[in-house]
Amino acid sequence: MSDRITVVLATRNAKKLPEMRAILGEAGLDADVVGLADYPDAPEVPETEATFAGNALLKARAIAAHTGLPAVADDSGLRVDALNGMPGVLSARWSGRFGTQSGDEDEANIDLVLDQLADTPEERRGAEFVATAALVVPRGAVPKAQEEIEEVVEGVLRGRLIRERRGENGFGYDPIFVPEGETRTTAEMSAGEKNAISHRGIAFRRMAEVLAGLL
Ligand code: IMP
Repeated sequence: MSDRITVVLATRNAKKLPEMRAILGEAGLDADVVGLADYPDAPEVPETEATFAGNALLKARAIAAHTGLPAVADDSGLRVDALNGMPGVLSARWSGRFGTQSGDEDEANIDLVLDQLADTPEERRGAEFVATAALVVPRGAVPKAQEEIEEVVEGVLRGRLIRERRGENGFGYDPIFVPEGETRTTAEMSAGEKNAISHRGIAFRRMAEVLAGLL
C-alpha cells in the first residue's frame, strides 16, 4: 500500500497552501499538497449553502470530481453572540462589498460590526471564529477508498470583540478579535502564534488525522 498521498487544497488563497503543508508536515503525514494553481480549468464554486460545512463540501466535491484526487476545502467565518451567530457564512460579504480583493471589504465589515455592537456591554461582546474543513476522496483515489469518502471537521476559537482596531497582521476581523485568555488581538500575533490556537489551525490539524487514517 502506498504511504504517500496527494491532496488538492481547493483554494486560490495563497496563504492557506503553506499553512496546510506546514500542519500536515508537523503531523508527520507524508502528503503532497497541491493548490488550484495547478488546475487552471477547475470550476469556480459559489458558496451558496447556509452552513460552513455545506459550503466546504460543495467546493471539495467539485474539485475532487474535477481532479480525481482527494480534495480538501475549507469555509470559515465569525459568529457574534450579540448578532445571534451572524455574520456566519456571510462574514466575507457582511457589509455588501464582496470580491473587490482590495482589502476595503475587510475595513467595511469591521466598521459595520463595530457599529452594530456600539451599545453592547463588555459582558455580551463574545464571539467565535469557526473553520470547517471538508475532505472528499473519489472512489479508488486511495486504496482504502473502495467507496467515495466524505469527512467534515471543525475548529472553533472563542473570544470577544473590542471597540477599536489593534494590530496589523492577519486579515478580516482579526484587528477587533481577542481570543479567550489573551490580551492581544489576533492581528497582534505572528502567523505562527495564531495558527497554534486558531479555528483553521484546529480544523486543519483534525484533517491531518483524518488523512493519516487513509494511508
Ligand atoms: P473564507 O473562509 O476564506 O471564505 O473567509 C470567510 C471570511 O470570514 C473572511 O473573509 C473573514 O472576513 C472571516 N474570517 C475567517 N477566518 C478569519 C480569521 O482567521 N481572521 C479574521 N477573519 C476571518
